[in-house]
Amino acid sequence: MAKQVLVSGGAGFIGSHVTVELAQAGYDVVVADNFSNCDKTCYEGVCRILGKRPPLVEMDFCDKAAVEKLFSDYQIDAVIHFAAFKAVGESVAEPVKYYKNNLLSFLNLLEVASVKGGNVLFSSSATVYGETDQLPVTEQSPRQSATSPYGNTKQICEDILRDSVKAYLGLKGIALRYFNPIGAHPSALIGELPRGVPNNLVPFITQTAIGKRACLSIFGNDYPTPDGTCQRDYIDIVDLARAHVCAVARMLDGKMEQAYEIYNVGTGRPVSVLELVTAFEKVNGLKLNYKFAPRRPGDVTAIWADPTLANEKLGWKATRTVEQTLASAWAWEKHLAEKQ
Ligand code: UDP
Repeated sequence: MAKQVLVSGGAGFIGSHVTVELAQAGYDVVVADNFSNCDKTCYEGVCRILGKRPPLVEMDFCDKAAVEKLFSDYQIDAVIHFAAFKAVGESVAEPVKYYKNNLLSFLNLLEVASVKGGNVLFSSSATVYGETDQLPVTEQSPRQSATSPYGNTKQICEDILRDSVKAYLGLKGIALRYFNPIGAHPSALIGELPRGVPNNLVPFITQTAIGKRACLSIFGNDYPTPDGTCQRDYIDIVDLARAHVCAVARMLDGKMEQAYEIYNVGTGRPVSVLELVTAFEKVNGLKLNYKFAPRRPGDVTAIWADPTLANEKLGWKATRTVEQTLASAWAWEKHLAEKQ
């Protein structure tokens, strides 16, 4: 019988892509979401890609009784936890809202999942590394104090998972530290759906290209990098989703060497903002209206992954070029425009 994987926040940007890859790898997937930060667009896209409708449970992970019911209604073999608020700026303005939602939902999940010795995969972030000049970062690179409540919730949840696997017999945990996920599914049926003005670079680029935004501001061109703009490790969303499938397989096939493991999920390739903009223009054959603007507070100069551990232990590797990924992001933006 196929193993069943619960994807909390499974209707969101990363969750929907992970749902597709898990289902295509032969897992039964249960999607749970409270639709607080997304609508049903991506869930419907997932159904179209798969040609079937994975069970969808509308629920809030802050509601412990709902989490208990979910685990009694379904035989869950592993959980991937995405259900969390993710806007850095909003977390600074409303820290209590962020701590309450992101910590309580994870605690509820762990409390219920750990009863039977569960397998829990937590979606963490490269933000835990902060500003560092030791590049690329490995999983051993020290974490820095978080610069936002959002970033802090990632660190705290990592620690909660680490401590819980020590304490609860049979519980296993993996934290995946994502670098910068971008792009969309090649079908253009699922992708990123930012609410309001996008904070992230690629949705801002595609919205500028389609005419929804007048001009992209490149935040800072006086950084100590080759072209003066920040460098990041942009990881294709489908490549990122595949890393989850590899991590779930490692857990469920009994391959973990420690009860708690951490992996960087990145390409190992630094790309500057200017390089990304130029690649977008070239691959999609268009000109983007952009200007240089002051640095954005809180941005680190440069960060990229050493993905060796994930390559070796998960048997996972990023496969898509930044050009392929930017073409998929543009196809998704055009798909959205056609629907309106
Ligand atoms: N960025 C930019 N203009 C924008 C949004 C982002 O120049 O409108 C830059 C930002 O300063 C950073 C990079 O793009 O150097 C990636 O930012 P994003 O918010 O996508 O991800 P982050 O690395 O902050 O998590």
